[in-house]
Amino acid sequence: TWVDFGRYFHRVIDRFEMTKSRNVTFKRLIPEESIGVEIDEDKITQVLDNIISNALKYSPEGGQVTFKLQVIGPNIEVSIRDEGMGIPKENVSRIFERFYRVDKARSRKLGGTGLGLAIAKEMIEAHKGQIWASSEEGKGTTVFFTLPYEPLQEDDWE
Ligand code: ATP
Ligand code: MG
Repeated sequence: TWVDFGRYFHRVIDRFEMTKSRNVTFKRLIPEESIGVEIDEDKITQVLDNIISNALKYSPEGGQVTFKLQVIGPNIEVSIRDEGMGIPKENVSRIFERFYRVDKARSRKLGGTGLGLAIAKEMIEAHKGQIWASSEEGKGTTVFFTLPYEPLQEDDWE
């Protein structure tokens, strides 16, 4: 279905903002105008839920999580940045592998199975998008994904 991604993104973030127990502030860089995409909303919600839970899980007390949406060429680009401990350069691309966890001891303490991002990658690729991350140890992590931009709703032509 066709979705106005900005409005949808706000709704997902609102749900986390209302229920979060940690002292983490949210910053939203989301344009006001409608930015359309054709998505399976349940699946993309699962992707966002995992990325946002990770960002919160690895955020320090008082940290900021930044949510950004923009149109870049034929795609929309979504990014979620945290100010957590980050991931060593050589491991960043591996976080999308099944069961991969950066630090076994640390991950065990924080819980999870190590499947979240592998599932996210499958879902984004099924939507003809891409997903990747950039990270700096001690400074934070940003997870990005793209989806094809669909400015017009198909029904407009009926
Ligand atoms: P699950 O999502 O299945 O509950 P998980 O969160 O450990 O478990 P993924 O979401 O796939 O698994 O993430 C894989 C690993 O990547 C994590 O265990 C963690 O080591 C690392 N990671 C993911 N996101 C971040 C982040 N924002 N900051 C630091 N490390 C991260
Ligand atoms: Mg996870």
